[in-house]
Amino acid sequence: MVIVLKKDISDIYKSELRNFLKNNNFIVNEIVGEESTVFAAVGKLTIDYREVEILPGVDRVIPISKPYKLASREFKKENTIIEIPNNRGQIIRVGGSRLVSIAGPCAVESLDQMMSIAKRVVESGAVMLRGGAYKPRTSPYAFQGMGVEGLKILKEAGNAYGLPIVTECVATEHIEGMEKCGVDVYQIGARNMQNFELLKRVGALNKPVILKRGISATIEEWLMAAEYLLSSGTESVILCERGIRTYEKATRNTLDLSAIPVLRSLTHLPIIVDPSHAVGIRDKVAPMALAGIAAGSDGIIVEVHCNPDKAMSDGAQSLYPEQFEKLMRDIDVLAPVVDREVSRIRIYNDGAKKESKIDKFSSDKVICAYSGTRGAFAEQAINHYFENKVQSLSLSSFRDVFMAVHSGKADYGMIPIENSLAGSVYENYDNLLRFDDISIVGSIKLRIEHTLLAKDGTTVDSIKTVFSHPQGFAQCSEFLSQHPQWNLVECISTANAASDVAKKDSTTHAAIASSKAAAPNNLCVIKTGIEDNPRNYTRFILISHKDFAKQIEFDKEDLICTIAFSTKNEPGSLYKCLHILQSAELNMSRLESRPIAGQPWHYMFYVDVNISKTKKEQGVLDLAIENLSKQSEKLRVLGIFEELN
Ligand code: PEP
Ligand code: MN
Repeated sequence: MVIVLKKDISDIYKSELRNFLKNNNFIVNEIVGEESTVFAAVGKLTIDYREVEILPGVDRVIPISKPYKLASREFKKENTIIEIPNNRGQIIRVGGSRLVSIAGPCAVESLDQMMSIAKRVVESGAVMLRGGAYKPRTSPYAFQGMGVEGLKILKEAGNAYGLPIVTECVATEHIEGMEKCGVDVYQIGARNMQNFELLKRVGALNKPVILKRGISATIEEWLMAAEYLLSSGTESVILCERGIRTYEKATRNTLDLSAIPVLRSLTHLPIIVDPSHAVGIRDKVAPMALAGIAAGSDGIIVEVHCNPDKAMSDGAQSLYPEQFEKLMRDIDVLAPVVDREVSRIRIYNDGAKKESKIDKFSSDKVICAYSGTRGAFAEQAINHYFENKVQSLSLSSFRDVFMAVHSGKADYGMIPIENSLAGSVYENYDNLLRFDDISIVGSIKLRIEHTLLAKDGTTVDSIKTVFSHPQGFAQCSEFLSQHPQWNLVECISTANAASDVAKKDSTTHAAIASSKAAAPNNLCVIKTGIEDNPRNYTRFILISHKDFAKQIEFDKEDLICTIAFSTKNEPGSLYKCLHILQSAELNMSRLESRPIAGQPWHYMFYVDVNISKTKKEQGVLDLAIENLSKQSEKLRVLGIFEELN
């Protein structure tokens, strides 16, 4: 049963309750959740649960009807997120907002093989390296794995690329050697799913475990196997659907995709899919991997080999590295459809990362990404902010900028957040929330002057089609209303609009963009200052990885803190939140709300508060944030930063 404790339960009542349950032969686990603290009491229900309900400090008791307890959703409402650190201080999370891909060969064969495959899979987007050192083969004459030697090779290759390693444990006597070699994730293979002695020993290691579904196991039997692991000590079990034996012979096994949504409601544990062992045929792997993600899995584990035709096991189902790369690109496209982002191992850019503190003007090795082509306003913002001292990296969407910062391809990203005429750039508010390892580290306001650009010889009268970003059109609406016959074509940025016009050899096309986009595109300025109001400013924010945000030292006295929070759905809840800021005498300079994806009529609020460095050092902000987090449902500090003028 699950015993939900009252919020204000005293320590004495807590320990009395624990003793009462122990005396009645229950094993008690305390779980501190986001919403409440619960005791999970596992054991045979020999007493009437109402006897527990009347004990002091108990809010309510929920009897668990399923034979598995610790694995059940009744026991724990929120999804379990498993954290696996790599050797570079990054934490890979399985079960959260990011999809994870685990890749590598079926078996470790040599150091060369592992080093070359690790390089290829990490470049494509894998976040963990797989490889068997002990292979449970159908035939005793087939390759059985390299044993401890293989584990050492796997670890060496994983460490070289920042990839935690996943490998199968087939027997209890191998555990000690596996621990010594630093195995990050223990895999229990399909054939061993019900090897209960093995489950108990591996569970007791308190390490993350991937539990494959047995070849003919029901979902309930599978969850009972997970229960063995959980009740032995570990809290980190990842379920892996890898196909079950059916009458169908066209594929090696039948990937039971429906198990994913079924498991979602039964358990809080993360779920991944192994399409390789499910289908057993190389060209069927990628479609089933994508199907697994579409069905709601938290990631995939796939076999990839640089030379599958020579592989010592499962070559026929191993992808070529190029096929894995294509699969990862497709997953990138699919991720937003299932409301996820894709996890990546951070690459280290020697330029910026070796500096002990972030120096805004450090060197030309620092890379700052933006969305758009050369001459985009964001590129100008970068040049202003960094005084032309960094390299700018042109990408094709705001999401790509966030991904580049997340993966380490760029040290910073410069993205627009608000325009004084056209309002907020909502997409970037959503991106800030989705990428929880990214912080705002600076901001800059840029005056936006729009010009009409076109090929030499073009006049206002010869123009028929105008290209720009929707914001460009919105900010020049009065000028455009004088030319209602013009065809307006939207582009991903104003700079792209200029390069599109450059490609047309005609005097009927023009672009609304910055005058800075004229020269690189060989265009002439037909008209300047066409924005509705000369006081047209865009505020850009500079984003960076959270780890770097922590190192920033502020030069200015005036700082801005951006906080995102959602309120409880009850009268006056927003008022109560804002009241906290008022009581702390924090000036709120901006308030924005956005609907929360998938939760109609629930809103996320974004506030900017001004805070002096001195007040921050006195802890005023920390206290206000602490109070605000108690009053709100979810809260995230998106960044504390200074604004350059
Ligand atoms: C493996 O992942 O290498 C493996 C043997 O898988 P399964 O246990 O699912 O057959
Ligand atoms: Mn295999």
